[in-house]
Amino acid sequence: MKKHIVFLTISVGMFSGCTQLNPEEKQLQQFLTDHLAQVEPLQKQSSLAWWAAATSGKAEAYDQQSKLELQIRQVYSNADEYAYLDQLKKSGQVKDLLLARQLHQLHRAYLANQMDKDLMKQMVELDTEIQKKFSTFRGEIDGKKVSDNDIREILKTETDSVKRQKAWQAAKQVAPAVAADVIRIVKLRNQVARKLGFDNYHTFSLTLSEMDPKELDAIFAELDQLTRVPFARVKADADRRLAKRYNIRPDQMMPWHYHDPFFQESPQIYDLDLDRYYKNQDVKKLSRRFYAGIGLPVDAVLARSDLYEREGKNPHAFCTDIDRQGDVRILCNLKNNQQWMDTILHELGHAVYDFYHDPEVPYLLREPAHAFSTEAVAMFFGRLSRNACWMQQMMNLTDARRAEIETVSRNFSQLQQLVFARWTLVMYNFEKQLYADPDQDLNALWWQMVEKYQLVKKPAGRNTPDWAAKIHFAAAPCYYHNYMLGELLASQLHHHIVHEVLKQDSLQTVSYVNQPKAGKFLRQTIFADGNVYPWNEMIKRATGETLSPKYFADEFVN
Ligand SMILES: [Zn+2]
Repeated sequence: MKKHIVFLTISVGMFSGCTQLNPEEKQLQQFLTDHLAQVEPLQKQSSLAWWAAATSGKAEAYDQQSKLELQIRQVYSNADEYAYLDQLKKSGQVKDLLLARQLHQLHRAYLANQMDKDLMKQMVELDTEIQKKFSTFRGEIDGKKVSDNDIREILKTETDSVKRQKAWQAAKQVAPAVAADVIRIVKLRNQVARKLGFDNYHTFSLTLSEMDPKELDAIFAELDQLTRVPFARVKADADRRLAKRYNIRPDQMMPWHYHDPFFQESPQIYDLDLDRYYKNQDVKKLSRRFYAGIGLPVDAVLARSDLYEREGKNPHAFCTDIDRQGDVRILCNLKNNQQWMDTILHELGHAVYDFYHDPEVPYLLREPAHAFSTEAVAMFFGRLSRNACWMQQMMNLTDARRAEIETVSRNFSQLQQLVFARWTLVMYNFEKQLYADPDQDLNALWWQMVEKYQLVKKPAGRNTPDWAAKIHFAAAPCYYHNYMLGELLASQLHHHIVHEVLKQDSLQTVSYVNQPKAGKFLRQTIFADGNVYPWNEMIKRATGETLSPKYFADEFVN
């Protein structure tokens, strides 16, 4: 299917075609034609197999998908082709902007697959082993095995500190069982990275995702500085409220007194029940009407999507761009409540980013500028599900209702965002040091970070690898920071659109309902260009400055 809206913010003809290409550029163009003839159909088939697997749960579809993924990886592991691209990139002969950008993308994709075969095999085996331990391990309370859900339930509702402590300890019991393997896989990853000329895997991985470790360090350092004092303030308030429930003093609060094992989410201390507003609504209809009102209709996406619960179907939610030609689909398991309102707005945020790429942009660049930039757009829209003005306009609520939602929603979002920001500071800084020196005292390092950023007390004398209980270090290495960068960019976009596009004064009173200018801004400055510009250049072109944590602080600190 062809996309029906074309917004050319870059003139493709301006860069290629009109000017005479040099021999190296012509050769690259030929390479691209051959390469895409091979890869484009494979990627489409793989996406379709993934969709079939997620919607049916059938084993054949999963097998089919992993076979196709392997075939794609084989294309990109070709060492001769990598050598050709590498020398071409170093020669600086490709000057045409779009060709140079495609060369850059191809080079990254090949580089990611140039790992030593033997190390690769060891890594895959170890990874499978670790995943298996994570999925089969059950912690115990008083000798009885408990599930993650049991633990979460206790942490949410139990008021007896001793029972809470046992549940928290049960959540950490997986750590000693996997820690040695996680350190082994970290070292293997480092070996892989060093063979390719990088300091360690963290640096390699950031470079592959077009991030400069120094740039990221600076963003997280500023985030730390901007959120330290306000976090201490909201945490003190949360501690007081929680301590009262447990009948302890606030200074007796321990890690098991929060509502999840890592204190990565806001404990439920505010009575925010938005479900009652959504239960008589249709979240699909609301989202369709909202996106149409901002000039980014999603009917074509919804028509191909799979939205409701079914036996065998993936119980979560995601968005997938099947062919980069307008076949964009979301998977949800909708119910009419706030969480699914958030989720469908979120997934459709990913979807409009994919759907409204300019079809004239070359295939390799017809994707979001970065994993976190599409996350940011999705979060930007998902947040509306708790926005009092948005809810008022979409559901015709009274002013009194709006004011009521506004107060609780504001307190809740502030605590939630600050808690998450401080948690990601632990994740980012710990992971960086984990790869820099996996032989250091990681157990001590983890608690130093937790005490420093989250202001959570280390239990006296505790010396266990609590960090290893976080599956992300093993399963999704060097990725977690993207969630935070997404939140930062969502706030930066909100700030920019409210003040510069809609020309309004207050961040709090904008609903975005029936504001096609907002949709047009996103489409023209972000979606259309896809990955033509590196992420920070894209952000600068769209908002006038590079990614900054100060808008996140503006939105959630005061
Ligand atoms: Zn997302």
